[in-house]
Amino acid sequence: MRELRSEVLVLGAGPAGIAAAVSAERAGARALLVDMQAEPGGQIWRGQWNKATDSTARRWLSALRASPVEGRYGLRLVDVPAPGEFVFDGADGPLRVHCERAVIAAGARERLLPFPGWTLPGVFGAGGLQVLAKNGWPVAGKRIVVAGSGPLLLAAAASLRSLGAQIVLIAEQSGWRDLAAFGSGLLGTPHKVVQAAGLWRKLIGVPYRTGSWVTQALGDNEVRSVIVRRGRQIVQLDCDALAVGYGLVPNTEIARALGCELRDGAVWVDMHQHTSVPGVYCAGEGTGIGGIDQALVQGEIAGCAAAGRAELAATAQRRRRGSERFAAHLRRHFGLRAELRSLAQDDTVLCRCENVAFGAAKACSSMRDARLQTRLGMGHCQARVCGAACEFLFGWGAATPRPPLAPAGLSCFNLSTSAENPQEPT
Ligand SMILES: Cc1cc2nc3c(=O)[nH]c(=O)nc-3n(C[C@H](O)[C@H](O)[C@H](O)COP(=O)(O)OP(=O)(O)OC[C@H]3O[C@@H](n4cnc5c(N)ncnc54)[C@H](O)[C@@H]3O)c2cc1C
Repeated sequence: MRELRSEVLVLGAGPAGIAAAVSAERAGARALLVDMQAEPGGQIWRGQWNKATDSTARRWLSALRASPVEGRYGLRLVDVPAPGEFVFDGADGPLRVHCERAVIAAGARERLLPFPGWTLPGVFGAGGLQVLAKNGWPVAGKRIVVAGSGPLLLAAAASLRSLGAQIVLIAEQSGWRDLAAFGSGLLGTPHKVVQAAGLWRKLIGVPYRTGSWVTQALGDNEVRSVIVRRGRQIVQLDCDALAVGYGLVPNTEIARALGCELRDGAVWVDMHQHTSVPGVYCAGEGTGIGGIDQALVQGEIAGCAAAGRAELAATAQRRRRGSERFAAHLRRHFGLRAELRSLAQDDTVLCRCENVAFGAAKACSSMRDARLQTRLGMGHCQARVCGAACEFLFGWGAATPRPPLAPAGLSCFNLSTSAENPQEPT
């Protein structure tokens, strides 16, 4: 297996990871930046490495290019066999990295909730369809309903529309009071108001309904229409695709595999982004959903601290308070309504990888019980989708992750060791 050594390993090359790696180098440490994507940028700066259109992206991507940070892309973390040891898998086979300190900046994913018809072809995550479309999936001329919750719906709808899609409706589950309070709370952060105004300009003429959610997707081989509920009002809308996502959930698998403490579903960190595990830092959406400003600020703080120069992040520390206020504001106004817990029927698929129905899962007492009884969460995605749904539907905590953290080649593992010490399934 190929081996590499680094002083500071930064896991994830989104805004938080880029800021951490660049800041660690500026603070005098040697940093290695690794990501499973083919180039740096993460979710929001996807595809901007060679042609950044956004000024913040341009600034940070140029800083990364100009810095001596060693970047390794197309490598996915699959195991953490020992403290300071990380195993990645990629097209050229596995890579083992030994490091003194690590910054986890693995971002977030969408929360998808089950409802009748959600597994039909043509039903996507809202951010997922945005990513696919940015990568070339054809949406021009398609009628798309965008639904779920949070500001990502607006960003997704604006991107899809700019690529030629016809947005039939944006259905936001939060009520108008929450939306109005969220909007007025942004007035203290002028650049957020400018961002929001920019999005709304791109969506002029698109119907936007608050207190509305999709209860069913209909179609034989693919989605043809959706049923949308708004209070007592129920409407059926024809469409070619549904883009639906109920906010974001922190990616915590890596931190959990390392034994880091979690609070409220996010990685706990101190003021220097240090987790409960010595030498392990976390920055960005993994510590709680807060958007790009929070990711950048936390990345700078984590990078300096991991380089042993926490004092260099004094300016970032001052900016941190504003980004934390925005994160709290998001949580307060985009909480999910209880009605979303009763959309799935007993025969609605909940775990797509293992084909486990909602009815079978709800008879279980915990994620571990559901794993043992039904294999829920034990397939390809390792509960990345159904785990977040179960947390909302049943209040279950996440199960302990086991290696491999993602599907990986056999050459990533020391097979003789695992054969001698077979472990019971968890
Ligand atoms: C699908 C989606 C679309 C989004 N679209 C928008 C948008 O249009 N506008 C907006 O303002 N915000 C958007 N967001 C939110 C935005 O991603 C964040 O605010 C911001 O990017 C957070 O930066 P980050 O560095 O914390 O995480 P990310 O940008 O998500 O970066 C995390 C990086 O970690 C890497 N990674 C994760 N696990 C592993 C692993 N096991 N091995 C190797 N690498 C790994 C990922 O490939 C990724 O590059 C979106 C989020 C999602 C999930």
